[in-house]
Amino acid sequence: MNCQLCNRRIAVKLTLRDLLWPGRLPPATVCPNCRQQFVALDYVNCCPACCRPQETDQLCPDCCSWRQKYPWQLTHRALYRYNGAMKEFMHRYKFAGDYRLRTVFAAEFTAAVRQLTAAVVVPIPVTQVTMATRGFNQVTGLLDGVDWTPCLQNRAVKKTAQSQKHRRERLRTPQPFVLSDSSKAVAGKRVLLVDDVYTTGRTLYHAADLIYQAGAAGVISISLAR
Ligand SMILES: [Zn+2]
Ligand SMILES: [Zn+2]
Repeated sequence: MNCQLCNRRIAVKLTLRDLLWPGRLPPATVCPNCRQQFVALDYVNCCPACCRPQETDQLCPDCCSWRQKYPWQLTHRALYRYNGAMKEFMHRYKFAGDYRLRTVFAAEFTAAVRQLTAAVVVPIPVTQVTMATRGFNQVTGLLDGVDWTPCLQNRAVKKTAQSQKHRRERLRTPQPFVLSDSSKAVAGKRVLLVDDVYTTGRTLYHAADLIYQAGAAGVISISLAR
């Protein structure tokens, strides 16, 4: 088996148990060297609302200003830091469109999603143009066997790449979504919004705003990276 990131061969040591129950083998798709480049967030020194790494356990300035803007609070959970290795991973997974790479984090991400036990799971959608060119939504690609509901749709057919925008421009981005027919499913429910990367929070706050308008009882969110 080869590492999906650096293509080096991965030696898989089999025990007698593995041979007797082959289903137990985890998908060894990344070599230990590549794996250790990803930094898991420790939830100790971070903002309790958005997982931003910091010295204190107080709300960060960004979350304070979100709370002034909206009458509700969004608590976000992220699994990994958006460091160089994660940026490179996302680039290959999303922009080079390598769908196999979903398996690197899918099991772990799915477990974190299930742990949050939301009644309705709503992924952040990609635009029609992205869907046609990339062929998949990178967010739902990270979900293995989780039932999700497509409550949100992009207003525009094509999106201007967020990654090319500066922070201030990103924060000014107008509402990019509209509610779809299936948004009826969120009425009175606790909803989990799912995204790949949390950058400024702008996208998730726009999404949460609409989900609350659709009558959700509560909204929380999760991303692979932050
Ligand atoms: Zn590797
Ligand atoms: Zn925060």
